[in-house]
Amino acid sequence: MQEKLRQIGDKSEVKEFRSVAGGDINNAYYVKTEKNKYFIKTNEKVPSDFFQLEAKGLEAIRQTNTINVPKVYHYDIATNNEEIMLIMEWIAGDKRQANGNLLGENLASMHLAEAGPQYGLDIPTFVGDLVQENSWYDSWVEYYQKQRLQTQLELGIQRDSMPQMRRSRLETLIDKLDNYIPKRPKVSLLHGDLWGGNWLAGPRGIPYLIDPSILYGDHAFEIAFTELFGGFPTSFYQSYQAIFPLPDYYEDIKPIYQLFYLLVHLNIFGEGYGGAVDRILNQYT
Ligand code: ADP
Repeated sequence: MQEKLRQIGDKSEVKEFRSVAGGDINNAYYVKTEKNKYFIKTNEKVPSDFFQLEAKGLEAIRQTNTINVPKVYHYDIATNNEEIMLIMEWIAGDKRQANGNLLGENLASMHLAEAGPQYGLDIPTFVGDLVQENSWYDSWVEYYQKQRLQTQLELGIQRDSMPQMRRSRLETLIDKLDNYIPKRPKVSLLHGDLWGGNWLAGPRGIPYLIDPSILYGDHAFEIAFTELFGGFPTSFYQSYQAIFPLPDYYEDIKPIYQLFYLLVHLNIFGEGYGGAVDRILNQYT
């Protein structure tokens, strides 16, 4: 690790080094040198470009100039299953002091930032440790149908998480998805994995986004996920709505947007999420 820090130009002495708890996927460390403080992740079990894709997502968010993300100093791309490393800026803050209003304002601005005409993305990403294949679509509902719900259905069949009734209900919903999901909502850059653990408070409570799984799509998809597991203050939603209001039909389709994330959890963690998936499917089929 010290060698890597030297390579990126920090030759000063390491003063402090400790593990950071909390990540499901990677080993995480806090490293303080005389010059700087770093957050470093390592992993040897993930695909070779795992950290490169994380860095690309952070960079896309940074480019919008709307919300903070940690600076990325270095990432490895594995050539031979060796351990890879991501070196980032350490964000020192206390979430109890977080500025929820600013989080709402900044995220709304990110969603309003200029984006290309199409939905999806041109590179794969990861949701948890699942690969999320992507491509560009002219229709958002088609992207959501084919690249999100259909792929989780297929993975569920492979992983035995799709008993017959669940499978046929999900197929029915996928078939009639365009009754619910808009074809051409505004194209927004989305973080794509925005649960409560993927935002941090920096100095003076300033919000930062981490661990993105970006895509271009309907902002309601992002907000629906923030509501699934909680972790966002009321002030966040108030400020967000004041800048980029959600559509009138948001409450009607919110469960369909949450369904993708529940299917991901079902396919990663198992039947504990089956009941929540079935309740949504029962509502629409
Ligand atoms: P994983 O990629 O394994 O899910 P995380 O990125 O979620 O790991 O990070 C693990 C822990 O480190 C979390 O508690 C998170 O809040 C914290 N963390 C993540 N990035 C930073 C950072 N740049 N500075 C300080 N703490 C961070």
